[in-house]
Amino acid sequence: MSNTVTIPESMLPRDGRFGSGPSKIRPEQVQALDAGATKLLGTSHRQAPVKQLVGSIREGLAQFFTVPDGYEVVLGNGGATAFWDMACASLITRKAAFGVYGSFSEKFAIEADKTPFLEKPEIFRSEPGTYRLPELTEYVDTYCWAHNETSTGVATPVKRIPGSVEQGAITLVDATSGAGVLPVDISQTDAYYFSPQKAFGSDGGLWIAILSPAAIERAYALEESTKLEGARRWVPAFLSLKSAIDNSRKDQTLNTPSVANLIMLENQIRWLNDNGGLAWAHARCAKSASLLYQWAERSEYAHPFVEDESARSTATVTIDLDDAISAKQVIQALRDNGIVDTGGYRKLGRNQLRIGVFPSVEPSDIVALTKCVDYIVEHL
Ligand SMILES: *Cc1c(COP(=O)(O)O)cnc(C)c1O
Repeated sequence: MSNTVTIPESMLPRDGRFGSGPSKIRPEQVQALDAGATKLLGTSHRQAPVKQLVGSIREGLAQFFTVPDGYEVVLGNGGATAFWDMACASLITRKAAFGVYGSFSEKFAIEADKTPFLEKPEIFRSEPGTYRLPELTEYVDTYCWAHNETSTGVATPVKRIPGSVEQGAITLVDATSGAGVLPVDISQTDAYYFSPQKAFGSDGGLWIAILSPAAIERAYALEESTKLEGARRWVPAFLSLKSAIDNSRKDQTLNTPSVANLIMLENQIRWLNDNGGLAWAHARCAKSASLLYQWAERSEYAHPFVEDESARSTATVTIDLDDAISAKQVIQALRDNGIVDTGGYRKLGRNQLRIGVFPSVEPSDIVALTKCVDYIVEHL
């Protein structure tokens, strides 16, 4: 049974949530729900109050990411997973190329592979703990990879594949756990998309995409093409990026959103911008991450999983433990003490801790966490 080790109260982090998504939601975000209780919750998303909330989210994100002229912040229901299917229906013309180096980068590639009206995708694969970007390939019109591979703790560069623009191709970057932490030049992407339950410390179920004029044009053209006689493409209403764009321009979503989630998200974006935006968030997360990596380097029983230091994520930190110490036991003992979601990605199956060091997490709590892990390992 549980409670193998009791950590002294004084050593515990102030907040014990270290998940890689869902991740810590700040108490102020929950208070914002209370403040919006009668004005927003339980009211129509087609009326001014909720539309203003969505407008504030779109403007706040445009500011946070220093979005270039002509780019638009678009949102809809379903999370990043829904956006993958939307991209298959509404963004990939014929054939995509993928960098695949973990579970999340692979999932999108699998969807494209199964889409009956697309060619089989080109896959550029590397081992978990490393990354590989897609390479320039003839006939490819869409290049895809993940900014942060959440299953392994690997961060990648976001830079267009040379030659891809000349080819007329667009670049889609899954930024679900990287957005809000990793520096990014949005002009290097055509869709920089994410769900808000990671760095934006909200709930799941929503996707947000920052779209370039080329991506918007592509979405409209592909939907138009379905009207041609003999067209094989199918764009179901829910996967129509065109209708998501049309709705977002009116500060709405195609179907009913979680208003509570919008309130928490709006609060988080304002908090981030008020503190100094992406530069501040990045510095704060980099500090938390380096506290963990340095602790692991010093430790006799732990070491960073990702060997290439430049690819080590500052959003989700993966730390291998020596075989003599059971990560499973450590994770359970942490949980018994109220420190939760420190486990590695299930399917990766390593003897590993994985810590989400998103902006909401206090670096001082990361220090406390490392001490708690040491304490558990000493006392197990
Ligand atoms: C969490 C995650 C997803 C899945 O997000 P959902 O909101 O559950 O669809 C996709 N990609 C990456 C990189 C993630 O970290």
